[in-house]
Amino acid sequence: MRTKLGLLYGGKSAEHKVSMQTAMAVIKALDLEKFDIHPIYITTEGQWVRGPQLTGPVDNIKALEFNSEEAQSPTALAPKVFNGNDHDSQALDVIFPLLHGPNGEDGTVQGLLELLNLPYVGNGVLASAAGMDKVFMKNIFAQADLAQVAYVSFIRSEWEKEREASYLKVEGQLGYPCFVKPANLGSSVGISKCSNREELENAFIDAFQFDRKIIIEEGVVAREIEVGILGNDEPECSVAGEIIPKTEFYDYKAKYEDGDTALVIPADISEEVYDEMKEMAIRAYKALDCSGLVRADFFLTKEGKLLINEVNTMPGFTPFSMFPLLWKHTGVEYPELIKRLVDLGTERHKEKQ
Ligand code: ADP
Ligand code: MG
Ligand code: MG
Repeated sequence: MRTKLGLLYGGKSAEHKVSMQTAMAVIKALDLEKFDIHPIYITTEGQWVRGPQLTGPVDNIKALEFNSEEAQSPTALAPKVFNGNDHDSQALDVIFPLLHGPNGEDGTVQGLLELLNLPYVGNGVLASAAGMDKVFMKNIFAQADLAQVAYVSFIRSEWEKEREASYLKVEGQLGYPCFVKPANLGSSVGISKCSNREELENAFIDAFQFDRKIIIEEGVVAREIEVGILGNDEPECSVAGEIIPKTEFYDYKAKYEDGDTALVIPADISEEVYDEMKEMAIRAYKALDCSGLVRADFFLTKEGKLLINEVNTMPGFTPFSMFPLLWKHTGVEYPELIKRLVDLGTERHKEKQ
């Protein structure tokens, strides 16, 4: 029997378009002997619409938007969309959320799927939420004794009350350069590198436009190396890859607009560094109680010190993104990777029952 796979894509976040491209690629890669493909589109306003079953690849994004006028709020539509108690829609076996950022990768959609008792691909509520909040993530890493950069955090109201004290704390504990980031975002949105007080003040104002909580980190000069982790209770690690951005740091533009960033796979690192990275990545995976997949991102300093930067619980997933490329170089091609992720999601669901 074929698996009825629901693909959930689009969404309200800044990564809407990336998600659409991912959906197109996943649809193209799915083996139609094994899967029935059921698309569910989330509009940029966060409304949901379930499309008809697809019988083959689509060649443009528009074809995946369906009739957006029929879109409804997720809470109204979700039971019908997924469980098929609508007259013309079928119940789905497993959902693959191809979503990034808030309202997709942060545990909210995962919570909805839990309530509906549906198996889904990837991380559960806790790991998704903790992975999205950089402050929580780093606190958990600290508890697992993982080496990382020094950081401080503020909520907006604290800063509004004591701006000067906030800046002095950053300067006293971290100094320059430092990186200011909204706590709950990805894709480098709202992130600034600061080299002096004026830049710091502007960076606070900017980051607080995206979130009520921000994190400030000590800036390091380092190579950026990443590994992919795949599995549930017995996670496996891919080969390592390096990102070489052309811009000053790996910002939004470098990620999505100019294809200039080089990905070097496998990364040119020693076996010792790779082994240490693998051990740290799996330790981070377990500390956050991850399942399915994660991309773990590291800084490798000139002195050879490895620092964990972050994990991404739903990493970029087009065939040209780092995570699928890492697995390709490890011997797992894109269609097989998708199949493994669907199986891991189904297994995890069974284990919870
Ligand atoms: P996101 O979740 O948006 O990807 P990151 O924390 O990975 O946020 O930061 C984005 C990029 O900014 C990194 O890939 C790196 O190039 C740069 N960067 C972030 N933090 C630091 C830091 N503490 N020191 C040096 N570079 C950093
Ligand atoms: Mg991230
Ligand atoms: Mg990152």
